[in-house]
Amino acid sequence: MKRWLLALWLVPLGGCGDSGPAGPSTVSRDLSAPATSFGFVAGTSLSFVSGETGQPVPGARVVIAGRDFISDGAGRVLLSELAPNGATVDIQATGFLDRKTLVRRGEVTTFELWPSESPTRMDANYSRALVYDSATLESTGAAEPMDRPSLDTPRVALIPDGVLAGDQRAMVALRSAALEITDALRGEITYNVGDDPSAMPVALMVEPENTQIVSENLRALTRCWRTRLVITRCEIIFRSVEVARSDTALHELGHTFGLNHSPDRREIMGVRRLAAPERFSPRERLAMAMMLKRLPGNLFPDNDRQAPALRASPNVSTVVCRHP
Ligand SMILES: [Zn+2]
Repeated sequence: MKRWLLALWLVPLGGCGDSGPAGPSTVSRDLSAPATSFGFVAGTSLSFVSGETGQPVPGARVVIAGRDFISDGAGRVLLSELAPNGATVDIQATGFLDRKTLVRRGEVTTFELWPSESPTRMDANYSRALVYDSATLESTGAAEPMDRPSLDTPRVALIPDGVLAGDQRAMVALRSAALEITDALRGEITYNVGDDPSAMPVALMVEPENTQIVSENLRALTRCWRTRLVITRCEIIFRSVEVARSDTALHELGHTFGLNHSPDRREIMGVRRLAAPERFSPRERLAMAMMLKRLPGNLFPDNDRQAPALRASPNVSTVVCRHP
């Protein structure tokens, strides 16, 4: 009994989901019954599905509150006893990253698993590179917690400086980049050109004389400010208007969502790209969709047990991206 009291105490009262303690969790928008204030009561049926297809995952090994289950042919587990808030949940299934989470207040009963195999060719290494490997100057090379903008402010305002605003081709590129990232995020976060006081601001500017741009011979750099692993504002500095007219604009917007670099030079988030892709690839899109289903602070491979604690600790930092 004591163990449960401790587990309950460790779960912060707020901040488990982007919508706050009492709101529906953004981990999943499934409409099945949420956990009660006690947790999952006896008789609750839990579903385990692919985060890519929504199809049930049979044969998943699930350990909840120390009790073992195997999901049935419909990807379901029927709880015979209470699994209280704060209880650990471990999920292992072929084709998916090992998931470690907790029973949380407001959590829905469907668990969407992160694919490690996919027709898009997304696998564990790719997910790590794009979502958890840092592209920052300060990076140590270790996997870092996932960060992204909050779904509480699901709009991003792109604010170009006078040089960009006066260049028709740069503005066309920026508008189409905004449409593409909005589409890739399925409208759950929308990017628009123009000031919007209630949106997350991203300032875009051309600074050929910028010290860092010059000294490191960069095409562009993106700097983001994060609070508790939530990206709250960014700035994108282009070396020239020509760079802002190119696919680099969309690449930099990808960084403002929290994406790092893809190992694939044909993709938008690749470095030293071979071609000039106009759209995110299917696997970039899949990774973005999974990021929206996870809390900021999620750890590789797929562990958000510590996410609320990470979110509760003050953490303001800058992310700088280099493009030699
Ligand atoms: Zn980059």
